[in-house]
Amino acid sequence: MTRRTWFQMALAAFLLGALPLAPAQAEDIGRQMEREFGVVSRATDEGLRFNQQLERVSERITTSVGYKLKSATLLGGRSAKNDDMLNAFALPDGRIYVTLGLMRAVQKSDIADSELAFIVGHEMTHVKEKHGKNQQKKGMTAGILGILVGALGGRTAGDLANLAANAYTSHYSRVDEYRADKGALKAMEAAGYDLDGAPAVLQRLKDKYGDSNKTMTGWFGSHPLTTNRIARAREIITDLRTGQPIPDRTESELKREDSQRK
Ligand SMILES: [Zn+2]
Repeated sequence: MTRRTWFQMALAAFLLGALPLAPAQAEDIGRQMEREFGVVSRATDEGLRFNQQLERVSERITTSVGYKLKSATLLGGRSAKNDDMLNAFALPDGRIYVTLGLMRAVQKSDIADSELAFIVGHEMTHVKEKHGKNQQKKGMTAGILGILVGALGGRTAGDLANLAANAYTSHYSRVDEYRADKGALKAMEAAGYDLDGAPAVLQRLKDKYGDSNKTMTGWFGSHPLTTNRIARAREIITDLRTGQPIPDRTESELKREDSQRK
């Protein structure tokens, strides 16, 4: 084992120490991601505009449901590879993160704020409903293995930070993800956003990463097939618009749909 590998193992061990989900320890993941990705400042025109947009949308979407996030941070500016990622995640203490790549992607839309509102609403719902509490151990074990494999496979520190964030969020169940999408749409409706922003931004993820989340085992965690998420978002939108009650799905129903594809 080379010295570099030992260093990576030590780093993995450090990250593992940061993984258990107590809010105080969650600080480490947020700080780690900020270091790896950078935080987009307001010093450039784009940085100023994007920070204002994220602030505006977070404020409006959270106020509509009477919830308060601790912070919403735009990650990026440190590496082209990371800035190309379309991603977002939440920590249980109420901090949410959105990547510069995702922020740039939604600018292509006529309803950019609505697309961003879905992302923020989704992450907010994970925090608000305390998702993942029962799945923590399972997700952590998978994540820990991933990090160790990553360390042995000669990943860089940045990759390990990504794996840590991944482990952190992959404990969400399919029901959690379904509820987060639903919570986002309800909050969007309450805030007066165009609900079509939801399928539109999901389509952007699908265009970039395909239907499987294998390429993006990423921070969207165990998110179901994107095609099915889009179809379910459309169902929820129809129910919201027609005032129908929205039937809940169970984990096994969602799993069956994802294995069959809609
Ligand atoms: Zn999610």
